[in-house]
Amino acid sequence: MGFFEQSTWEGRTYLGGWTELGATTDAVSPSTGERLASYAVGTSADIETATDLAVSAQRTWAATSAEERAAVMRRAAAVLESHAPVLERWLQDEVGSAPGKAAFEVGLVLSELHLAAATALVPYGQLLRSGRPRLSLARRVPVGVVGVISPFNFPAILSMRSVAPALALGNAVVLKPDPRTTIAGGLLLAAVLEEAGLPVGVLNVVPGGADVGAALVDEPRIPVISFTGSTPAGRAIAARGGQLLKRVHLELGGNNALAVLEDADVEAAASAGAWGSFLNQGQICMTTGRHLVHESLYDRYVELLTEKAARIPAGPPSTGAPLGPIIDAVQRDKVHSVVTRSVDAGARLTVGGTYEALFYQPTVLADVVPGHASFDEEIFGPVASISTFSTTDELVRLVNSSEYGLSLGLLTGDAYAAFELAERMSSGIVHINDQTVDDEAQAPFGGVGASGTGARFGGHDANIEAFTDTQWVTMQGRIATYPF
Ligand code: NAD
Repeated sequence: MGFFEQSTWEGRTYLGGWTELGATTDAVSPSTGERLASYAVGTSADIETATDLAVSAQRTWAATSAEERAAVMRRAAAVLESHAPVLERWLQDEVGSAPGKAAFEVGLVLSELHLAAATALVPYGQLLRSGRPRLSLARRVPVGVVGVISPFNFPAILSMRSVAPALALGNAVVLKPDPRTTIAGGLLLAAVLEEAGLPVGVLNVVPGGADVGAALVDEPRIPVISFTGSTPAGRAIAARGGQLLKRVHLELGGNNALAVLEDADVEAAASAGAWGSFLNQGQICMTTGRHLVHESLYDRYVELLTEKAARIPAGPPSTGAPLGPIIDAVQRDKVHSVVTRSVDAGARLTVGGTYEALFYQPTVLADVVPGHASFDEEIFGPVASISTFSTTDELVRLVNSSEYGLSLGLLTGDAYAAFELAERMSSGIVHINDQTVDDEAQAPFGGVGASGTGARFGGHDANIEAFTDTQWVTMQGRIATYPF
């Protein structure tokens, strides 16, 4: 089927091909509340079925040539590229992405597919020295079936970031997207890969909530789980995965700092800060949560960021507004609770702090200190929380006081000094003279502390590490002889 023909997948999911499961649910627009489509929703029993299919399809898939697997990835990129507006529209309708964000996300998915095509073909082992006359090597072999659980905010790339390299390396995949973004984060991606020639059963999508995700983690035939989502869910998955001796890759929350150093250009810094906090309504793990501004620039920075926030409208993506809706009322209320608790504790609201339906106005909180909710917690909404510092040691303490450690921006006139300073910071990612939001398929992406276990996605090495096992192989011409 053409992946753009909704009528052919309406009421179904991709489980050994397009299948009805019994129960269906609706995809709903967060902007309008309108029903967009229906799809089949799965249960724990469907995880078992998906795994049966994946296990039997994986052997044949792993035995196809690396060139054939690479070709499927290249064709998937071509299919998606020629129908990019379809995925862009679903990202706008189902996720509430502004048009620019939707186009950007499709570009990221394309990069991921191109990289995965290359990953299938890079060297995958080492020749080892041996004390004996034999061939000794370490090679990477597929783990078998990879379980992928993904979130709602960048659903297509955060699914594909694991699905594409796992497949390219010869694994089968069972994917459980977020229930609020099943189409953009699951079904459309399956349709693209199907059209590209991925054999049936190699990828299966089981829509559902946390219970279906937990069943995926529990499934004994899935040795590797790739999870992107919140820190509390990550902790639960890590605990269960630990009991079952699974390899669990965790990409979790963040409360990322943007440090504006004394010698920074304050106008440029405020522009970077606004982008870092407000892009995609702040619903990004790498969103700039905490703006840490040197005391000499503080008042001007607060003024500039406030002016910018006041000028950025939130509205339905169909209007072209740069900010769309928060994904649902639960998430919106969480954002609002952080804002009101921070103001109650002494933070100064300079703009925003209000909402209409799911559209939350860009918000700036000044005079924030540790102990305020907006300093301590991940907000996941369009809220810039500004604090000040006077010395470098104080800045290091503030940055490192967060339990999270995903991304950090250092804005400065002395890039090399920031390069040295970065060594003192607990952060998986540091951008010098940029804000905190960035992702490239070829760069190893990951956080420390409550942002993850330091696992990485991105680039051949990190992806091979994530989705294969090492096998040590020795080979000699004749059977070795022994005294027994
Ligand atoms: P969430 O953890 O509630 O849900 C994410 C996914 O996990 C969904 O598919 C959900 O159904 C599933 N899930 C939830 N609980 C589960 C459980 N116990 N067992 C198995 N599956 C479970 O996350 P959310 O709040 O919807 O998403 C936002 C969070 O994701 C934020 O904290 C954000 O920072 C984080 N995130 C991290 C990255 C990263 O790369 N580090 C990227 C995007 C989002």
